[in-house]
Amino acid sequence: MLSPVSRRDFLKTSTALAASTALAGPHLLAAQDNASAPQKQWFKGNLHLHTQWSDGHPLAEWAVDWYKSHGYHFICPSDHNIFQSDQLRFDGFGFSNPPADRAAFDGQTSLWKVISPSPGWPRLTQAHVDQTIEKFGPDTVRMIRVGDQTYVRMTPFDELETQFAEDGKFLMIPGYEQTGGAANDQQVHVNFLNVREIFPYISGETPREILARTFARGEQLYEGQNYLFMANHPLWRYYDFSPQDLIDLPQIRLFELNNNSIAGGLDPHPQGWMPEKFWDVVNAHRAAHDQPLLWGVGTDDRHCYQTPAKAWCVVRAARLCTEDLWEAIADSDFYASNGLDFQDIHFDGKTLAVKMDVREQGAYRIEFIGTKKDYDPTRRVIEVAKGARNPARKIDVYADTIGVVLDTVEGTEGSYTLKSDDLYVRAKLVKVSDDLKPDWQAEPAAWTQPYC
Ligand SMILES: [Zn+2]
Ligand SMILES: [Zn+2]
Repeated sequence: MLSPVSRRDFLKTSTALAASTALAGPHLLAAQDNASAPQKQWFKGNLHLHTQWSDGHPLAEWAVDWYKSHGYHFICPSDHNIFQSDQLRFDGFGFSNPPADRAAFDGQTSLWKVISPSPGWPRLTQAHVDQTIEKFGPDTVRMIRVGDQTYVRMTPFDELETQFAEDGKFLMIPGYEQTGGAANDQQVHVNFLNVREIFPYISGETPREILARTFARGEQLYEGQNYLFMANHPLWRYYDFSPQDLIDLPQIRLFELNNNSIAGGLDPHPQGWMPEKFWDVVNAHRAAHDQPLLWGVGTDDRHCYQTPAKAWCVVRAARLCTEDLWEAIADSDFYASNGLDFQDIHFDGKTLAVKMDVREQGAYRIEFIGTKKDYDPTRRVIEVAKGARNPARKIDVYADTIGVVLDTVEGTEGSYTLKSDDLYVRAKLVKVSDDLKPDWQAEPAAWTQPYC
């Protein structure tokens, strides 16, 4: 087992979740490091969401309050290409409204956005302002009138943290989403979590080049900081980066398995991979080559808060602080969910045992999923022509021997012991129904991390 000291020291480096070979071996979960260690508990969080600081609908305080009052313990407001600092400015992702009279803002701080007379992405409307005033009172929204335009001050992260963070109850993590695309408009978005400084988007010819260069730039800029790098929504908008990209970039340890916004993207190709298959393709390769496995995260990536928050992640830690949460993630002690929960996940180096936290009676099923050592690693590339709803793409197609159900348990508790020909195993918990969808679209469901 990895000692707590080595894990902690390890996480202090900027390459925390990147260069780890220490994390490639067996992980022991749920074990207390020593008898006096505080009891670990599950913390629910969302590491990807948007506010009016970029193109999310609500003002930031309204969004943060929504999560705090809906049972979340931690969030990272990850706006596009901006950190919510107190630097005075008038432009950002998708908008630019410098005032005619800048003197009106002498001594002011933060980002100011203009109320738009008509709705539409990514505008700020009177309704967004009214919604916040209704909840928090008129003094919470600061406005300055310049000519016929009304400027509204966006509340910086530090002020939001002062207003909402509560020891042991609600943690706010600073961060942002790097947003842009490759030469052929394949979108490559990544989240930097627990950082307060941004750098401009790095464009490139291919998604792989962008991911590699962005990761490397992050290592440079955030050296010594305890941050995470997450590759976001590979399927949105349409096969943006491929499993092969993350096979070639083993330093990337986190990806979005379940992103609410994918549902709003384009329909997957009938032969193409979906996110859960993507996950297994990468992990089959990594496990076969003794590389650290890829972890799957659930997020809602919400912009419009009228849609439900469909996915999130739940992390088991002793304390609600970024250091402990990241340490638990480095130990694979977390799961992705869109509606179900685990009471316990335990891997002893050989056997993965899971127990559901049953909150509603029903028929539940646990699938133990993995890949055998003799799997077919070859990939076939299909070329998809530009269609009415999709751009032209080359899509990797992988063998059915990757990501197979190794065993099924009808019930809420079960275990699977790795066989000599298994590369890794993970558990997927679903509620049984006639219209249960495949892959990441199964709902409600929960996914453990893979173990080997
Ligand atoms: Zn994105
Ligand atoms: Zn996003």
